[in-house]
Order: sequence, then C-alpha cells, then structure tokens
Amino acid sequence: MKLSTKLIHAGIEPDPSTGAIMTPIYQTSTYVQSAPGKHKGYEYARSQNPTRKVLETAMAHIENGRHGLCFASGVAATDAVLRLLSPGDEVIAANDMYGGTYRLFTKIFEKSGIRFHFVDMQDTAHISSQINAQTKLIWLETPTNPLMNIVDIAAVAAIAGSPSSSPSRSPAQKILVCVDNTFASPYLQNPLDLGADIVLHSATKYLGGHSDTIHGALVMNDDELREKLYFIQKSCGAVPGPQDCFLVLRGLKTLHVRMDRHCTNGEAIARYLRQHPKVGKVYWCGFEDHPGYAIAKKQMRGFGGMMSFTLKDDSLPTAIKLLSSTKLFALAESLGGVESLINHPASMTHASIPREERIRNGLSDSLIRLSVGLEDAGDLIEDLEQAIG
Ligand SMILES: *Cc1c(COP(=O)(O)O)cnc(C)c1O
Repeated sequence: MKLSTKLIHAGIEPDPSTGAIMTPIYQTSTYVQSAPGKHKGYEYARSQNPTRKVLETAMAHIENGRHGLCFASGVAATDAVLRLLSPGDEVIAANDMYGGTYRLFTKIFEKSGIRFHFVDMQDTAHISSQINAQTKLIWLETPTNPLMNIVDIAAVAAIAGSPSSSPSRSPAQKILVCVDNTFASPYLQNPLDLGADIVLHSATKYLGGHSDTIHGALVMNDDELREKLYFIQKSCGAVPGPQDCFLVLRGLKTLHVRMDRHCTNGEAIARYLRQHPKVGKVYWCGFEDHPGYAIAKKQMRGFGGMMSFTLKDDSLPTAIKLLSSTKLFALAESLGGVESLINHPASMTHASIPREERIRNGLSDSLIRLSVGLEDAGDLIEDLEQAIG
C-alpha cells in the first residue's frame, strides 16, 4: 500500500461487535477475565488498550517499521528510549535540537550517570570522533529545531553500525540510532528506511495536526528492542489515554493532504521572506543554496512548513515588536497544527538551553520561528508584511 492509503487504512478494522468504521475509544481501565489468566489479550489498560493498539499498528506501518509504541507525550517517548541505558553509558546528540530533549538529557539523565556529547552533526566526522566503548546511542533531529540544519541519516547509521566504530562490540551491543522525525513527519521522511533503529515522534505536532492533544510515539523494527521498550512503557507507565490515541488516529487520516499544503505554503512564505529588504537570514532547507539541500533532496520528499529567520535589524526589541504584531500567526509554542504559529525560540521553546550555548550554536536572541499552517498563503504573507512593517 502507498502511504496515502496506509494513513487511512493501516491497522484499522471495523469494530467487530458493531461495525463502527471509526476506531472506538475504549475508555476502560481493566478487562473482565473468564478464569484467572484467561482473557482476550487485554488485562489492564496501562499494559494494553485496544484504541492504543490500533494507533501503534498504524504508526508502525506509516514509518515502514514492524512495531509501534505510543506514549503520553513526545518527551515521555524520549524518556523511554533513554531508559534503555545504564550509568556510565554515553550518548552523542545533536547540538541543535528541541529544548525539552536537551533539558531531559542534561537535567534528568546526566544525574543518573549518563554522559552526553553535543556535536554539530552536519559534519558526521564530529560524531565519529566522539565514539568510544561506552557509546550506546546517537540521537538526532533532522531538519533540526529551530535552525533547519540537515543531518545525513544514512551516513550516521553507517557510522553507528561500522565495525571500526566499535571493534569490541557484539551485534547486540550495536550503537543505537534514534531519529526524532517530528519536523518532517512520515510523509516527508522515513528514518528506518535509511538505517535508523528507532524513530520518535511528538505526535502532538503534524501527526495529530490540530493542536488538540499531547502524544508521543516510537517505531522500530527489532523485536528485542520492542520488548525492552514495551517493558519500559508498561513499567514506567507514561501511556496515553484512549481519547488522545483516537485524536492522533483521526489526525493521521489527513496527514498527506495537510503536509502537501504545509509544503506549498512553507515554500511561498520562505521565498517571500527571503526577498524582503528588512529580513536578514531565512533558514529553510528547500533553498537550493542551503548547505544541506542535496542531503535533504536525497532523504526527504518535501521541505515542510517549518522555518526560522532573523531581521536585518538584529535586535531583541525589533524581534519582539514583530512577534507581537502578527494577527494570523499566533504567538505560541508548538508547531505542525492547521493554524500558523510564530515563536521566539530564545525565550520560549529553547529557553532551557543556556544562552552562551545557544549563541554558540547559532541560535541568536532575535531568531523568529514560523510553523506555517494551512491558511491562504496570500493572507499569511499579508500578515507578515504588516508585522515586519
Ligand atoms: C514538541 C517536540 C518534542 C516533545 O514532544 P511533546 O509532545 O511536547 O512532549 C520533541 N521533539 C520535537 C522536535 C518537538 O518539536
């Protein structure tokens, strides 16, 4: 099946007892057994829920993986992956990523003895040079948040799997590669096909698509890895409720249609901003002169609706004035919904990254991030035009 068909049908069966075409919301905490241990595959809803199961199956199909696992949030899914590690283990992570992931790594997992190396992954040599016998996980986003840098997923997977990276390792000790695919969505990029071991989604964003739920998902191929992550999911308990699973399932059905419009609107806004005399640099990976363009063309099927830009007057007050002047673009955290959002990473999504570290990685105080939604592109441009002034 092609993705458009999978988004609507994968894992979905009419409800066996009623024929309901939409997956029911199984709002239950437990399931009746006919004798101790005799049940229909469902015992207790932290471990199994039918609505969640349908979504997990659908997620696996649309990321071309064998197994899906859903979580209460994207961060809960990230937390589950990190719980695979033990004190003394090391992680190589991108130096340009979601602030909440950075906070989880440095404020929670560093305390339990896991060591993180943050590197610029646009040059994969920076990854190779940090690998040692303790390296267990490589964590990346592409395009990165908020600077829209591109990381070559296949090249990173090759480094992780190459015997020279880990001469003394058995295959079971392979360095795992986890790709946060939230920005691209499965419509534009499938990291498992490029050699990644785990794909992570904040389904809060494009997958849900309507800014009405918090949800996370993992997809993987390896059976043993699935068992370990399922054990963490039920033992730690950060599971989503059935209502949220339903909302994500509903969102998935239109992902392809929405993403097409996010891409065309995104391109229109990026090209408009770039020619504006008051705009400084526009960060959007669809520009032919973007340093990651060739890799983006190779591993993505489109460039999406996320972008960032600075103003020529690169001052915080001018940026704040713009951020407070848009009428259609709502000033808010998050992304990937039908409505366009404008965001100030330095004080909002990325405030948990120390300023020095932010500036060093190119995230300036005046950087503005846009999540371009599904409104009329002309109306969105008009809104930016009046706000930039
Ligand atoms: C939002 C986001 C997350 C965290 O997901 P939540 O659903 O908010 O917990 C992780 N990664 C990226 C790229 C995000 O945008």
